[in-house]
Formats: sequence, C-alpha cells, structure tokens
Amino acid sequence: MIPLVDLKANWLPLEKEIKEGWDRVMDKTAFILGPEVKEFETEYAAYLGVKHCITVANGTDALELCVRAAGLGADDEVLVPANSFIATALAVIRAGCKVKFVDCDADHLIDVDSCVKQLSKKTMAIFPVHLFGQVAPMEKIGAFAKTHGLIVMEDAAQAQGAKQNGKVAGAIGVSAGTSFYPGKNLGAYGDGGAVTTNDEATAKKIRALRNYGSEVKYFHPEVGFNSRLDTLQAVVLRAKLKRLTEYNAQRRAAAERYHGLLKDFGDLKLPRAVPGNEHIWHIYAVQVAASRRDAVMKSMQDQGVGVGVHYPVPIHLQGAFAGHGHKAGAFPMAEKAAAEMISLPIFPEITAAQQEQVAAALKKALS
Ligand SMILES: *Cc1c(COP(=O)(O)O)cnc(C)c1O
Repeated sequence: MIPLVDLKANWLPLEKEIKEGWDRVMDKTAFILGPEVKEFETEYAAYLGVKHCITVANGTDALELCVRAAGLGADDEVLVPANSFIATALAVIRAGCKVKFVDCDADHLIDVDSCVKQLSKKTMAIFPVHLFGQVAPMEKIGAFAKTHGLIVMEDAAQAQGAKQNGKVAGAIGVSAGTSFYPGKNLGAYGDGGAVTTNDEATAKKIRALRNYGSEVKYFHPEVGFNSRLDTLQAVVLRAKLKRLTEYNAQRRAAAERYHGLLKDFGDLKLPRAVPGNEHIWHIYAVQVAASRRDAVMKSMQDQGVGVGVHYPVPIHLQGAFAGHGHKAGAFPMAEKAAAEMISLPIFPEITAAQQEQVAAALKKALS
C-alpha cells in the first residue's frame, strides 16, 4: 500500500535527534513556552524573512488571531475562498466577523476578478489561501485591496516555504496564519500553528492574546486565549525546519516526475505551478470527469494506492454554513474542483518506483 502521506518514513531518520531534544525538555520540565519555542520562532521568522513569528496551538487559532489582531469584529465582512479547508472560514466566524465567499480560478486559487461582486460597504478584509502549496495571486490581490481599502491576511497553512516572484508566503499580507498539523509541509507530532507578520503592533497583540491576553503574568488588560505551541512540538519543528528546503525540493521533484508520467493521458487534467510561483506541492491533485471520479478512486485504492479529495464539499455548501443560504451553482469553479479532484500520494520520501505504481494505477483506473 502506498499511503497518501507517509509520516513514518519522515520520522525514522529524525528519531534520534528529536528524542534527544525531548529528553532535554523533560530534564528542564520547560513544558509551556520553554526556550525551544522562542528558538523555533526566531528560526522560522528568519527562514521566511519576516520580522515576527508567534507560535500558537494550531492553525485555526492562528487564523482567528490574525482577524482579531486586525481589529475586525461584529458585522465586518471578510472575503474567503469557497474552496479551502473549512478552517479559513471558521476562523473568521469565530472572530465574530461575517464570511463572504468567493470563487476560485482554474488553478484553484482565489479568483480576484470575482471578488468585486461580493463587496459591500462592510467588507473590510480579504483572506486568500495559498492552496496546495502555491501562493495566491498576491500582486493582483494587493492592488484590489488597495483600491477597496481592504486588509490582506494570508492563510499560509499549506505553503511553508512557497514563493512568488521572490516574495515568501506568510510575509506578504499584514499577517499570516499557518498550521503545523502533522501532514503539512512543516508538521509537528501533534497540533501547532503560528502567526507571522512584519507589523510590530500585530505581533505584540498576538503575543498577548495567545497567553490569556497578558503581557505581565496575572495582569489581563484584555480578553485573551490559551493558545500556545507545546515545547515538545517546538523540538520537532526545529528539527524539521532545518530540512524544510530539502523536503520542498523533494516534493517539487516528485511533482515533476508525476508530470512526466501522466502528461498527455486522455483528458486527465494535471496541476501546474502558475508562472512566477515556486510551488511546494503540499498536495498534487489531478482532475478527472466528475461522473468517473469516485470509481477511479475506488479502483486506485483497490490497487493499493492511497488517494484523497481536497476537498469534497466546498465550504459554502457545508452544513456549518447552511445559514448563508448558498445553493449549488453559487461558486461553479469551486464546485467543479470538488467534484473532479483526486489527490495523489506526495511526500518528500516518495520513491520513483512508488510514483510509477501510482501513475500505472491511475491509468488503469481511467482505461
Ligand atoms: C490545515 C489547514 C488549516 C488549519 O490548521 P489546523 O492546525 O488544523 O487548525 C487552515 N487552513 C488551511 C488551508 C489548512 O490546510
């Protein structure tokens, strides 16, 4: 069986280094906000070339804290792509704002042209998602945001190390939230997340909010959260951050291999890196006719290939957002993607032989 993601293959070469790090944490009993947390924050900020990194408990919290730190609240509307993981929209709702969904383009990234239709006087921000490992069209988004006076925040959960024309995901908007969920390109061995920003005031605010709204112990000038990265997880992330450039390069090589194996095969649609983007291939999703998708997936699973769909139901059609009253057809590109996509196994350690097996299974399923 070839898994969609092989966390075991990733763990084995890191085992010794990480266990030694964990032992050091245990010796010091520095479980909460121990020195490794600060060290990781400094290292990750340097990696992205951003001034501040504030780690938190998970990616959803990171996104919510971005919205709160931007001073957004009741009745403010935030533009969110309909095809993302649901957390982007949840974060906006949890911060007390309203979500305005927008459609995506053929590369599954936010369709900036369609955003105009969703604007109202209350629209205050836009929250693009760097989906599957490539940066959303940030220059276009920046120009659009400037014209309409919107704050730009980034969902960089799938884009640790991705770039666009030299700019780095997580360092472009006023703030960015990222996730260290185990399966992400930079993943912990449990939950974790971070906000990155170049803005001093935002950083200060988030540092307080993540720690009960307090800068000085037992003094709480505002209502905060308990949302912190575990020191044990910081040890894992430090070990993996050292290798992130290499991991992303391995993913890029794997994506190129898939292109070579699968190109010009009937009407199978392959993903691409948009010109100007340095894609880090968090997900490699192909598209097949919607009428055949589920049968193709079943055939691949029967042939021992782990496949997935990111994501089978676009957010505007989820029960959680039924109150918004969107019907099927509201965001056709997002819905088409949800019906046609199949994610193939991709992870740094995937071998050429495994990829050949995946490609053969897909071709057989489609024939
Ligand atoms: C994983 C992910 C999140 C949420 O991260 P958690 O750490 O699971 O809370 C948010 N947005 C996107 C695009 C994601 O892929």
